[in-house]
Amino acid sequence: MNEQQIALGAKYLREGRLVAFPTETVYGLGANAFDATAVNRIFLAKGRPADNPLIVHIADYATLPQVVGRVSPEAERLMRAFWPGPLSIVLPRNRQIPDIVTAGLDTVAVRWPNHPVATALIRQAGVPVAAPSANRSGRPSPTLAQHVAEDLGEQVDLILDAGQAAIGLESTVVDLSADKPILLRPGAVTVEDLEQILGAVEIASTRPTPGQPVRSPGMKYTHYAPRAPLYLYLGEPDAVVQAQGARRRELEGEGKRVGILTYDEFRHAFPDSGTLSLGRYNRPSEAAQSLYQLLRRFDEQNVDVILAHGYPSAAGLGLALQNRLLKAAGYRLLWV
Ligand code: AMP
Ligand code: MG
Repeated sequence: MNEQQIALGAKYLREGRLVAFPTETVYGLGANAFDATAVNRIFLAKGRPADNPLIVHIADYATLPQVVGRVSPEAERLMRAFWPGPLSIVLPRNRQIPDIVTAGLDTVAVRWPNHPVATALIRQAGVPVAAPSANRSGRPSPTLAQHVAEDLGEQVDLILDAGQAAIGLESTVVDLSADKPILLRPGAVTVEDLEQILGAVEIASTRPTPGQPVRSPGMKYTHYAPRAPLYLYLGEPDAVVQAQGARRRELEGEGKRVGILTYDEFRHAFPDSGTLSLGRYNRPSEAAQSLYQLLRRFDEQNVDVILAHGYPSAAGLGLALQNRLLKAAGYRLLWV
């Protein structure tokens, strides 16, 4: 990554073009947030439904009033504690931000990412940058520049490559636009982290319930999914490993190609190439870094079915992992 590429990216953003850039969470697909035509190109490139709003990225506090309305003392405390970092905050929106960015909502999600390339790009562009994850809608988020190229190809004008994303899961999204804080999407800024600053935080249900209003439009879509159906096994580790093995034998008997998602400690139970490991058991940062890459690898291996060992703990980053695995599974859960 060199200075000229970042400068070119900044120029492209000012011209209304699309630039994919690295952040500490996943790669983003950026456009000038003030330019409705450019932002529309994001929706077209991704095949993203128009009612799913984008996160606006900034790289200094001076730009914040151009994006949001009033910043509450609570919001300010969160920013001071976690920015730059993997936390998007939903606040009342500034009218300068076009409707297409917020999908017509009165609120806007804003984040200051913690990545030197992202911050240099945004500062040089001189505008806030609307950027969802740089994948085709419904595909796992990109953790490598190569994933962006695979999904978006010619539809993106420039891809800034800074290697593997450090965290590997999308930012935490917390809604501070109403009376009490609500966690809309778990991420690397954990509930425990948020509660240290805010006190109790309500966790929005991940699974859309028929008849219930949807708080975060993005939550109603099946995200992060590999092409093959993924079944999530939960329970004591030995029981999970047994159940995965038994189901695999059945499926292979039917002539199906089966992918196994497991952890280093249990890999020996599935000694073949269709097995991928999320790293050591109960090490959330290892699983977070590798999850999306492994889901893409199952696609490449053309498996018919994936049998995945669930993440064992909801503590810390574990909550985000459980959330993404559930979505990848389309809520196909098996307790054993
Ligand atoms: P992505 O940028 O692809 O990671 O998706 C952004 C996520 O943030 C989606 O789940 C959106 O629904 C959510 N989001 C963005 N803006 C808002 C908003 N104003 N209110 C609630 N959720 C939002
Ligand atoms: Mg996304």
